[in-house]
Amino acid sequence: MIRPDGQLNHDILPFEKGPQDQCGVFGVWAPGEEVSKLTYFGLYALQHRGQESAGIATANGEKILVYKDMGLVSQVFNEAALESLLGHIAVGHTRYSTTGASHWRNAQPTLGKTAYGTIALAHNGNLTNTAELMELLEKRYPNHESELRGGNTTDTAVLTALLTGNADASLEATALELLPLVKGAYCLAFMDEHTLYAARDPQGVRPLVLGRLERGWVVASESAALDIVGASFVREVEPGELIAIDENGLRSTSFAPKKRAGCVFEYVYLARPDTSISGRVVYEARVEMGRTLAREFPVEADLVMPTPESGTPAAIGYSEFSGIPFGHGLVKNAYVGRTFIQPSQTIRQLGIRLKLNPLREVIAGKRLVVVDDSIVRGNTQRALVKMLKEAGAAEVHVRISSPPITWPCFYGIDFASRAELIASGLGVDEVRQSIGADSLGYLSKEGMIAATNQPESKLCTACFTGQYPIELPATERLGKNLLERGVATIREEGHVHIND
Ligand code: 5GP
Ligand code: MG
Repeated sequence: MIRPDGQLNHDILPFEKGPQDQCGVFGVWAPGEEVSKLTYFGLYALQHRGQESAGIATANGEKILVYKDMGLVSQVFNEAALESLLGHIAVGHTRYSTTGASHWRNAQPTLGKTAYGTIALAHNGNLTNTAELMELLEKRYPNHESELRGGNTTDTAVLTALLTGNADASLEATALELLPLVKGAYCLAFMDEHTLYAARDPQGVRPLVLGRLERGWVVASESAALDIVGASFVREVEPGELIAIDENGLRSTSFAPKKRAGCVFEYVYLARPDTSISGRVVYEARVEMGRTLAREFPVEADLVMPTPESGTPAAIGYSEFSGIPFGHGLVKNAYVGRTFIQPSQTIRQLGIRLKLNPLREVIAGKRLVVVDDSIVRGNTQRALVKMLKEAGAAEVHVRISSPPITWPCFYGIDFASRAELIASGLGVDEVRQSIGADSLGYLSKEGMIAATNQPESKLCTACFTGQYPIELPATERLGKNLLERGVATIREEGHVHIND
């Protein structure tokens, strides 16, 4: 859905700036396969990670081709476009913007010219030292001819420019020298004409996995994308690892020691339920979160219902533990968010109804437990509670399968500023009042962590705790529009002063 400000939104409230996911990356090395089609279906499986733009680049040993545009994977590509993307290596990307606006020029894969050829790079995550890297770029390669010159304003373009600048070293050697200097969350899939590369930050904040095809290799943000292209799961790309794949096979190098801090919100909301992260199937984790929520916040009620779709596994767990029957009180139109048509004012006023319609016969007179995965600004639950009460619900008890979100994410999720996070200003009972629920319970941090089967020391819980595992720079050197400011300065003065 294009919001009034031109941004895509797939939230339940289609006209509001909701929290957004990050990106999906996919890479394949497979001589004899139609790699563009494998990538297309891989990206299709990763569509939930970014709906703003999609792109695929292919390499055939001699040259690189790229096709990218704004929109969903299915809107960007057709059979003819995929057939023109020839080669035996491919990288693909679905984007939600975290640094740099949602704009055609910022779509990925990003291209760069090296002394030997070309690279194409796809990135999921968000860098926290983009300003520093920009300074490094201007110092090392003041005459770089990267996409930044053409108005690309992403941290990804800065990384691509740094990877291509060194005429005296191979791409692999440059990457091994550069990656230890890059801070923040990044999963990269990139290639030159001959080799596919994958790299993951030393914390492994975002997921990235390696898979095997009969005649090749695949890397993908989520294991579900391996399933969809018929690749078998081999292992995760390790935190701090660079993998290179070419006709000589697979080489692995560790470029930094592991300090694992996997994003806990991948388990709560971001990843597909059929994905497995660090050995834990996301669906199982979510059902367990729901069971624990029922133990921590029981209530007498007639029906447990999910906020579709993201609340469904936790609602199943809540129902199972509490013994209260599970049912659907809302019907979701799965295709909202897939249209570029601006609704009329009359329809816009109906807001949430475009996406969810209550089943009055199920709801009327009932005491409901409504389960959702998270509250960010509170707008979804406020609209839902109102709609359910209008449809005749006797009581609405909201249960959230994660703790209150009180801190922004700098590692790839664009939630909101701290001021916009409802729980950063209000206590639980004030949030309850604000959304109009009869009661409200949030899963404890301990309950959430236990459900992931990971030790707390190996997770990033910053959005719930404010404990950021990767050091953050001063506020003026952070933020989505950092490089828009920077690029404006480049244009005016011919050089960069990002921090002024
Ligand atoms: P709120 O309306 O409170 O601002 O947002 C909460 C809703 O947004 C929940 O239904 C949750 O499933 C959804 N949500 C949480 N995180 C994300 C995200 O990163 N992207 C999108 N699109 N929705 C999210
Ligand atoms: Mg939701």
